[in-house]
Amino acid sequence: TLTSAVQRSTLGLHTLEQYEPLIGAATVERIAAKADRVRTMRVAHISSTFYGGGVTELLTPLTLMMNATGIETDWHLIQGTPGFFGCTKKLHNTLQGTSLEFSDAEKTIYEEVVFENATRLHLDECDAVIVHDPQPLPLITHFSDREMPWLWQCHVDLSSPHASVWTYLSQFIEQYNATIFSLPEYGQDLQVGQHFVTPAIDPFSAKNREMSDRERREFLGNYKIPTDRPLVTQISRFDRWKDPMGVIEAFRKAREQVDCTLVLVGNNASDDPEGGQILETIESVADEGIIVLSVDDPTLVNALQRSAAVVLQKSIREGFGLTVAEAMWKGAAVIGGDVGGIRHQIKDGWNGFLVSTPDQAAARIVELLKNPNLREELGARAKESVRQNFLMSRLLEDWLDLLSKYER
Ligand code: UDP
Repeated sequence: TLTSAVQRSTLGLHTLEQYEPLIGAATVERIAAKADRVRTMRVAHISSTFYGGGVTELLTPLTLMMNATGIETDWHLIQGTPGFFGCTKKLHNTLQGTSLEFSDAEKTIYEEVVFENATRLHLDECDAVIVHDPQPLPLITHFSDREMPWLWQCHVDLSSPHASVWTYLSQFIEQYNATIFSLPEYGQDLQVGQHFVTPAIDPFSAKNREMSDRERREFLGNYKIPTDRPLVTQISRFDRWKDPMGVIEAFRKAREQVDCTLVLVGNNASDDPEGGQILETIESVADEGIIVLSVDDPTLVNALQRSAAVVLQKSIREGFGLTVAEAMWKGAAVIGGDVGGIRHQIKDGWNGFLVSTPDQAAARIVELLKNPNLREELGARAKESVRQNFLMSRLLEDWLDLLSKYER
């Protein structure tokens, strides 16, 4: 039994009907009709963490929405040792292009831990299994008598995976019925079918919901973030691919021309062992005017994206980049790295800016800080493009279309 306050604040927020003011009644009806077609399916998602990173951000609302539309949807985690997550982070880095070999000893740790997880997983009742990212990928080898389709969804930037690691992983990938990538350009030379599903954001979550100016200011005050100078921010896991050092370099150059404060916020995913070390490096170079916060607070993310004059996401690899859509949804002026999924969200000069170097980022920061009208124009178009393309209702529809292909 839930109190009425709980019911009002959380239940119902994951129904399709909730999206009607944003996407219109006709779209809601179209998606609901598609849900009817696959309503009897039972689906299981498998990933490696409930905490931190884009996969968690997607699966949290998606699994709730799928259940709200009547599709029984589970979400299982695989458990692992720090050694295992060290290995899988290496796989993640090599998939994004780092040239590193994956040793036989690492393959043993990786495959053994996945085998232990397979021993605990009982999936006989499912009609479809969706495995996310490299961590649980080899699970499939332990379900050889499966009757339902297994799909592997990879969320990383696959524009140039390291060849020998890709060959090693392909032996697992090709046992799946199909793969799902975030963008068409991540398609690979594979013996199995490939689908493309672009991520999306939940406009009703604590991170993305509407917020009053007063609440916003209160939150910044709680974290002692000064608002006397314009704010420039990047909100990202502390990860080399997010280029935090490039952000600091760009900020320092911009500050020579316009006074501003940089706020770097990061949480750390429990399956990402590199964050602590990168945070230390950032803290060691941060000077006055650079605020570094290692916290996990979605409302702070919301308040910052709404308060910043400029939001950066200067990634050098980016599977999709949910932080970009989140900031654009709030009408922020966003400067993104000209890579991966960021290119699909920002049309340079139309609804934000794309940059490749710290110098370019610095020049755009200065331009935006000097021109509030430009910020407003870009931000308004940014919000509209997220409304049209990157809301959870669209992701749900993509999944319903995909599942209907695999209905038995
Ligand atoms: N995130 C957060 N707090 C932080 C840093 C990141 O809540 O301090 C969230 C961010 O808002 C986004 C997700 O983590 O929803 C990161 O997804 P993205 O696709 O941007 O990058 P990934 O971490 O998957 O590489």
